[in-house]
Amino acid sequence: MRIANLRGRAALVVESGAIDIESASAGAFGPDPMDVYERWAEFLAWAEAAVLPDALPYEPSDLGVPVPRPPQVLAIGVNYKDHAAEAGIPDPDELIVFTKFVSSLGAPNATVELPSDDVDYETEIVVVIGAGGHRISREDAWSHVAGIAVGQDYSERTVQRRPPVPQFSLGKSFPNFGPFGPFVVTPDELPDRDSIRFGAVLERPGEPLLTLQTGDTAQFFFPIDEAIHRLSQIVTLLPGDIVFTGTPAGVGLSRGILMRPGYRLTSTLDGFGSFTNEFVAAS
Ligand code: ZN
Repeated sequence: MRIANLRGRAALVVESGAIDIESASAGAFGPDPMDVYERWAEFLAWAEAAVLPDALPYEPSDLGVPVPRPPQVLAIGVNYKDHAAEAGIPDPDELIVFTKFVSSLGAPNATVELPSDDVDYETEIVVVIGAGGHRISREDAWSHVAGIAVGQDYSERTVQRRPPVPQFSLGKSFPNFGPFGPFVVTPDELPDRDSIRFGAVLERPGEPLLTLQTGDTAQFFFPIDEAIHRLSQIVTLLPGDIVFTGTPAGVGLSRGILMRPGYRLTSTLDGFGSFTNEFVAAS
């Protein structure tokens, strides 16, 4: 299943378009996109048995934040060997965790205002929690996952690294610094849930397309099930929570490429579509 937020309403995305979940379920679910995650087991049972109406075409610009009000947003830093190496950080023994504040989440195709000339990209797999829990075992962890998407953990590096102690959560929480989507893909759709491939491509006026990052979650230090297990030893995960799982090598900091007005960055989840953010100067 592919679940989207279409103009603020929960929708199923199929080959030919989108199906409004509230009308297809005769009012049992939706229209609030959070409703399906808050009642994930019930929703799955309904979706398995549902006879769906015809889909209608939609515009990508009508897609909203797939999970617009997660109770918690967790983000993992330094989760790929090649990114640890480029950042000069030793391989971690424990999860490195921060938050992006909820107001920083963005619609997949959001236009991003640049607060400075020090804004970087981090292309990541985003996990959406269905059933919550505390002290979830690694064996059970995937059963707590509603789905995944590709996302950007845009980061203002000056604020992020401002002394005396780094301010990850602030540097990564300007408006629209956490777009993800274009929709949430349920794990049963993934060809291999331990090797999810994704990437990002940059378009600059007058220049050829440039591949910035390609990622494969097979390279994680802490795979999705292990990360959920470890996070939940401390944090009680709640339905609708989202987890940014870290970025592979190729961030702008190491390549000397930071975002400028007029740049367009397209993030792709291999086999499941993409979204594009355009950057504009702060107004
Ligand atoms: Zn990140």
